[in-house]
Amino acid sequence: MPLGERPLIVMAMEAEAAPVRSTLNLETQSEKLHPAFTSEIWESTHVCLALNGQDQRYGVDSIASQPAAITSMLAIERVRPSLVISAGTAGGFVKRGGHIGQVCLADSCYFHDRRIQLEAFEAYGNGNYPVVDLGDIGKSLGFQLGAVSTGNALDATEADLVRMDSYQAIAKDMEAASVAWICEQFNVPFTALKAITDLVDSDESTAEQFVSNFEIATQRLSDATKELIELITTEGEDYAIRT
Ligand code: SAH
Repeated sequence: MPLGERPLIVMAMEAEAAPVRSTLNLETQSEKLHPAFTSEIWESTHVCLALNGQDQRYGVDSIASQPAAITSMLAIERVRPSLVISAGTAGGFVKRGGHIGQVCLADSCYFHDRRIQLEAFEAYGNGNYPVVDLGDIGKSLGFQLGAVSTGNALDATEADLVRMDSYQAIAKDMEAASVAWICEQFNVPFTALKAITDLVDSDESTAEQFVSNFEIATQRLSDATKELIELITTEGEDYAIRT
């Protein structure tokens, strides 16, 4: 199936997803993906967007790894997408050329906080999931290519930072690797597209940076998502899956 036939975008926060939906003309009513979960989906004939929804007890967006996996699984089973894009905001790294609003496209995808000091489980913990090779498209759109790294915290421990340095992570988020794992099970091509809201190796707190830069980053993200989808739709057949 050509990659651009009907891609699925998976997102965690409504404030990130609203501008993407509007840029992609996905303004129809959403549908729930499962009665027990808040995950929802917007569909058109050529693109779909799935969102985790709000946590039913805490009333906030269901960010982090578990909801991302559930939403991805339900959405993949429903729409059988040609490609899955984990889209959202992320932390970047000054020491690797990161800046606020920078758009990053994955060429690899790991977990940085699944530390399992048992030989047989170490590689399983790190993940290193298959990512489809969109290098030429990414470069032509001015995106930074590199490793996207996922953990279940907004901040980072020393051990997390060491792990992320080992594969030169350019974007730190809380969902991508989880989505990637589901895609691997379903053998669906995967990538992650992230806009930088905060710089992990800066003196300012991640939470403060996140709040002040959220709007500019989400605007960049929605533009970038549209550009990527358009280019994949016109050139997608040339791109092979890398495992
Ligand atoms: N402060 C926000 C919550 C943001 S949580 C609020 O109150 O609404 C962070 C979300 O943005 C996650 O979905 C994650 O994928 C992404 N993110 C942005 N910067 C990040 C960083 N430095 N580390 C991890 N996740 C980050």
